Amino acid sequence: MFLRELGQSVTVLKGAGASVSAKLAKLGVYTVADLILLYPRDYDDRTVFSPLASYARESRVHTIAEVMAHDWFGFGRMRTLKVTIRDETAGAVLVCFNRSYLEGQLPIGSRVAVTGKFTYRYGQIQSSAFDIESLEEGRSPAAGILPVYPLTDGLNQGQLRRLAKVALVEYGAKVEEELPAALRERRGLMPKRDALRAVHFPKDSSELAAARASLVFEELFYFQVAVARRAMRRREVQVDRRPPEGLLKKRLVQRLPFELTSGQVEAATEIAADMASPRPMARLLQGDVGSGKTLVAFLACLDAIEAGGQAAIMTPTELLARQHAATAARLLEPLGVRLAFLSGNVDDRSRRPLLAALKNGEVDLVLGTQALFSDDVEYKSLRLIVVDEQHRFGVLQRLALSRKGPLPDLLMMTATPIPRTLALTVFGDLAVSAIHTMPPGRKPIVTHLAKAGNEVKVYDFVRHLLEAGRQAYFVYPLIGESEKLELKNAEAMAERLAKETYPGRRVGLIHSRLKEEDKRATMEAFSKGEVSILVATSVVEVGVDVPNAAAMVVEHAERFGLAALHQLRGRVGRGAEQSYCFLVYSADITEEAKSRLKAMLGMSDGFALAEEDLRIRGPGEIAGTAQSGFLRLSIADPIRDAAVLEEARSEAFAMLEADPGLLSAANAPIREVLDRANPFGDAPAGLH
Ligand code: ADP
Ligand code: MG
Repeated sequence: MFLRELGQSVTVLKGAGASVSAKLAKLGVYTVADLILLYPRDYDDRTVFSPLASYARESRVHTIAEVMAHDWFGFGRMRTLKVTIRDETAGAVLVCFNRSYLEGQLPIGSRVAVTGKFTYRYGQIQSSAFDIESLEEGRSPAAGILPVYPLTDGLNQGQLRRLAKVALVEYGAKVEEELPAALRERRGLMPKRDALRAVHFPKDSSELAAARASLVFEELFYFQVAVARRAMRRREVQVDRRPPEGLLKKRLVQRLPFELTSGQVEAATEIAADMASPRPMARLLQGDVGSGKTLVAFLACLDAIEAGGQAAIMTPTELLARQHAATAARLLEPLGVRLAFLSGNVDDRSRRPLLAALKNGEVDLVLGTQALFSDDVEYKSLRLIVVDEQHRFGVLQRLALSRKGPLPDLLMMTATPIPRTLALTVFGDLAVSAIHTMPPGRKPIVTHLAKAGNEVKVYDFVRHLLEAGRQAYFVYPLIGESEKLELKNAEAMAERLAKETYPGRRVGLIHSRLKEEDKRATMEAFSKGEVSILVATSVVEVGVDVPNAAAMVVEHAERFGLAALHQLRGRVGRGAEQSYCFLVYSADITEEAKSRLKAMLGMSDGFALAEEDLRIRGPGEIAGTAQSGFLRLSIADPIRDAAVLEEARSEAFAMLEADPGLLSAANAPIREVLDRANPFGDAPAGLH
């Protein structure tokens, strides 16, 4: 198999000694295969010339020039060579830091090919980051398309290009075809080894396009095979079940102080029908922050319990699990539902009897973190797993599938809406329900942007809210002081807000480095209104529900992603009072950050914001998509390559439907490829 053959350490390559390989490791490159799969992030097309005069317009100059003069400036070790050059359009200066040797290579009067980024400084066009090629004796410049790799300190493009070339020349032939030949032919894909060579060192732009297209298709194909495989495994399973009458649900609804929204009713109905069907459910429930997903989850749990099973609700943080447990105690315990709570912090003494109770069926609903699925936790008859606010669904699905006993139903909830363009293909084996309504009586949250320096006005506004008995969140990007970043941090601000800004008010602090008990105590105090200001990092992003909180102040808002900002804003506006969100931003921010803040100002619908987020990041922003937690892809982009994704999807489903044997143990090679094709994250998101 491809990876095994090329799984040797990069140090087998000439030029990759200990120090170079340590740097490569920072790029995630350990083996020869990693290096071959380190796709260029861009290309430098040396077949296209842009003269010196175009320096301001073009991202880089690439021209043929004559060396006019040598000058030196600085003294001693700082002595630096300046080479004046001129092409047909303009003159410029090359500042040769640490490159005094260029004096000999670039004699006055010689011709050179120069590539680099030029700027106007000290009255001249100049560059200190340039590539140069001497054209003595009538040589013509090396034309071609050069790869531009992601770099790390101490590595340069030249080194990486040389290493990639050596790796491809010496090991490229060992790359084996993995895709079925028929599929490759039908889709006109390049052989894998040619595609890999061409993606690094394309002969021309059309070869590059073909290579990329082949690799993109292949990556998306495996991804969709993984999706199809999960979908089919579920299809194979039949569960015998009698739908419950829904008595427990009815009793809960009767006890609620409000009516369910139409969106909640619709979602609950879809879920109930799915849970009554003979196939295990795998469903995603999307609903904006505050749309009331928890209740819909409880309704599903009640059906599972009434049918004689157990239900588990898992959350990414202990904080959220505690909050759900409290809500469940209030709403479900009076119905006779037996509850339990389990997290990594439950000590051994209480843990043992709890595990026994789960195993004996003495617990109907257990709430907790991923500790719910530790190896030693056994359930008597787990019928439903609800996962709240968790993006890495792939892992969870695998987890559910790998459990012993009958397959439980799976309900995953997210308030980070997944754009329509992604949902079907990414979660192709999931049914989707969406809540598009909000509980009535909510006033839209008023959002204000404030430039850093003007935050005093924000603090004053918040003071009025506090005086009126409301509570406020203040969110910061850092927990404590950082040596690298000069940013306000939660610890220092908690102190400052308590001492200087709002003396006499109780300020709570919450972040990931605090002990669970302390977090819990603070959260409880905030929940009860004993603490009026909660200073936090993005831990409060997820699920926290305190209706009396009417202000969300996010400082250094430019450092937060759009999804995070939307989640944070969703912490307020949960009561009947008018709520506010203040986004304080620094003067010096990127265009992208500006667009994000503007989007927050103009939009409140989570689905629309998610689409906007993708638009701002733009297609091809692969890292961005990966970070969003949905997918981990290396060359394909599910948005830019949406059409290919669709085709890869139908090929994958068709292939598996025609030959389910591809999934059998007898077919080890393809299984290995598939197991590797794991574009979903590897582990559930860590606790904050
Ligand atoms: P999310 O979808 O963000 O998880 P929650 O389930 O936390 O939202 O619900 C947010 C708040 O709305 C909770 O305080 C909950 O009690 C309340 N709520 C839920 N459904 C309704 C409803 N139909 N009418 C009024 N309030 C509701
Ligand atoms: Mg929630």
